[in-house]
Amino acid sequence: MLPVRPEFQSDEPRPEGIGRFRRTRGITVTTNTRPDSGMLAINGGSPVRATKKAADPVIAEAAKEEALRVLDSGQLARFYGGTKVAEFEAAYAAWFGRRHAVAVSSGTAALHVSYLAARLPEHSEVLVPANAYVSALSALIQAGLVPVIVDIDPAGWAMDPADCARKISDRTSAIVPVHMYGQPCPMTELATLARQHGLTLVEDCGQAHGALWDGTKTGTFGLAAAFSLCCRKHIAVGEGGIVITDDERFADTARALAHKGKGTGWFDYREMGFSYNMTEIQAVLGRWQLSRLETELRTRTKLAELLRAGLADLGLQFPEVAPGSTHAYFKQNALLPARLAAHRNAIVDAVRAENVGCDPSHPHLLDIDWIREQRPSLYRALPAEHRPDYGRNTAPLARGVLSRQICIEMGPGLDEEDIDYTIKAIRKVVTIFDQEAT
Ligand SMILES: *Cc1c(COP(=O)(O)O)cnc(C)c1O
Repeated sequence: MLPVRPEFQSDEPRPEGIGRFRRTRGITVTTNTRPDSGMLAINGGSPVRATKKAADPVIAEAAKEEALRVLDSGQLARFYGGTKVAEFEAAYAAWFGRRHAVAVSSGTAALHVSYLAARLPEHSEVLVPANAYVSALSALIQAGLVPVIVDIDPAGWAMDPADCARKISDRTSAIVPVHMYGQPCPMTELATLARQHGLTLVEDCGQAHGALWDGTKTGTFGLAAAFSLCCRKHIAVGEGGIVITDDERFADTARALAHKGKGTGWFDYREMGFSYNMTEIQAVLGRWQLSRLETELRTRTKLAELLRAGLADLGLQFPEVAPGSTHAYFKQNALLPARLAAHRNAIVDAVRAENVGCDPSHPHLLDIDWIREQRPSLYRALPAEHRPDYGRNTAPLARGVLSRQICIEMGPGLDEEDIDYTIKAIRKVVTIFDQEAT
């Protein structure tokens, strides 16, 4: 019997490899009759959970009412009388203790205007970790900057300051830590490095709203930080993004770039810009979700603890979180035991078929063809000796980690019962794969 592969339903862009998973050789689990483990749903067994529960954003009734009032008012955009975007920006900046926030249409737009507003020299090099969301890199190229890929550390699987230091050249202008899955990068060392070398620091906090590094909120260590508010991020408004900074000139530039390059006066076109504005409805949702961010973080932390405890004896490895720091648990990332590493994609498929949310890692940036092959025209504009090294051995540790990593869904909107199902599904799948793989 051929296994039926579930549709890929994640809110994430389809990770590399998904949709063309090979059937894993040796894992045709159709004859398992052990009563305690059952048959995998992907092979026709009954799933741990009858239907998948969507981890959708939690929208307060009051938020819906306020959104309706905005619709009734007709003021859907900030530039025609709306006040909601400005209120959301003020509340967001205040939550992070920063002076300015600039709301935009997506996390990618937030990164793009941040890179441009930082006024980094054209074609200068920017250090970005190999485990990142693709936008951290594509927005660099779109801003005329050259990404240099940095490896991750073996314990927390976040940007490695030692490899960062090795890759600084006389063309380096900035460091972009990306706090993947909610795990904070080692910001003390990265900020020190930036200071010592006169580099700009822009954090990508798309998955890390509220994560602490050594007691300090991520997003407050450098010149600026960019957040995504899309889909199922901690603050989810459908699509949206926001930039925070203490630097007034940076904030003014970012705001102008997001609004056609306009300043404050009529037709004050200061420079070439984009149309990246946030709508009033998005801002209403964002404001309400910001007010429950602390609750959201507490819930995710508790559920992640339960999850790790329930999986403790399976040989999975979880990222080490430094003392005084907190993981924001956008997902609970974990490494499969080495003995199952080759079956990662098949295991993710099997867990999803049990109706529990699980994704593979985002790919190593250099496993994305258009990046590795340096296809954007930017690279052709560089003298040969300035082309970055995107060879197989750039950031090798990340390659090993990311190929074994699974990302277990954490919310929003999930509760203890949901985590119970998650534990059961992963236990079932790993146990069966273990029996078949050995
Ligand atoms: C989601 C995400 C982005 C991109 O945000 P969009 O709102 O989808 O454009 C960028 N960086 C990280 C870390 C993300 O998780």
